[in-house]
Amino acid sequence: MRTRLFLLHEHADEAARAAFAQELVRVGAEAKLLSEEGGGRGFIANVDDDDAAFLARHRVVARVLAAPSSHPLAGLRGGGGTREVIVPCGPARDRVVIGGEHPVVIAGPCAVESEVQLEACAQAVAAAGGRLLRGGAYKPRTSPYAFAGGGTSALTLLREVAERHRLGVVTEVLDPRDVERVAEYADLLQIGARNMGDVALLREVGKTRKPVLLKRSPSATLDELLSAAEHVLHAGATDLVLCERGVRGFDPAARNLLDLSAVPLLRLRTDLPVLVDPSHGVGVRAAVLPMAAAAIAAGADGVIVECHPDAGVARSDGLQALSLSSLPRLFAQTHALAMAIRPSMLGAKALPTAAE
Ligand code: PEP
Ligand code: MN
Repeated sequence: MRTRLFLLHEHADEAARAAFAQELVRVGAEAKLLSEEGGGRGFIANVDDDDAAFLARHRVVARVLAAPSSHPLAGLRGGGGTREVIVPCGPARDRVVIGGEHPVVIAGPCAVESEVQLEACAQAVAAAGGRLLRGGAYKPRTSPYAFAGGGTSALTLLREVAERHRLGVVTEVLDPRDVERVAEYADLLQIGARNMGDVALLREVGKTRKPVLLKRSPSATLDELLSAAEHVLHAGATDLVLCERGVRGFDPAARNLLDLSAVPLLRLRTDLPVLVDPSHGVGVRAAVLPMAAAAIAAGADGVIVECHPDAGVARSDGLQALSLSSLPRLFAQTHALAMAIRPSMLGAKALPTAAE
């Protein structure tokens, strides 16, 4: 079995394509229709050599190619540069571009705790120049006795407060059964590190066709992260952002070991945008700004951080929450560093290839 691309003749109409799709089903192939911008009109399918030779003779097939990688949808598509992910947000459905010319800073509390807390965060994020507000309504906690988020009421609050400040909502969904509902409130649907390998969740999220923020599991290889992304894209999503948030380390001085090499290494494998989360990545407030700077220097398309108006009383992750007064510095340093290293913001083109 090999993954192959069946590119169809330009004149192939709807009926001819449907007939070919039936042939794929008949040989037992799990096929995926490519979108026009996903690499031309055609299908991706896993088929053996005999079936490939048989299918290649179908009248609608122009060419059969071996898929460029085991992640044909999430991998490099050629042409250089990063795919832009557009997040429509705010009452006017403004466009926030992730993976574009400017790095993006997503900020907000770990968990939505109260209107006062969220309003203070949103106000500070908007004032610093932010466009996207993060906040958890469903929290995947290590202990079943810890605060697990406010659920539906937190989602409503997120939407209300974000709209008031013309911000987009970034929030996590944990359970496939909640996907449809959370998608009604979220502009960018987050899949958390603990759930990166939950194929049922990846599929449900992909089906919504909403932009997705996929976080790397602390024990996942980059290849496994891309396989998870492939599931989301295969299920129907077209806009996906990857996020490095630290892998399991050996030293309790940091909550995780922030793997910034993931940024340039992902550039060699994918043109999906890559964000870095230095908050969960290190878990120590004083390290968040320096590591956010390092992430941008490594070529990340932006950062996602946690903040709180009074970290001492935060119900989760207080030790890593930035003060609201430090947000302007985070935005300023991000902007300044991106300007300084701009060529690498343009993606793999500017980086040495594996062969060099
Ligand atoms: C979060 O961003 O709210 C979160 C729980 O992070 P992670 O999934 O990376 O642990
Ligand atoms: Mn958190």
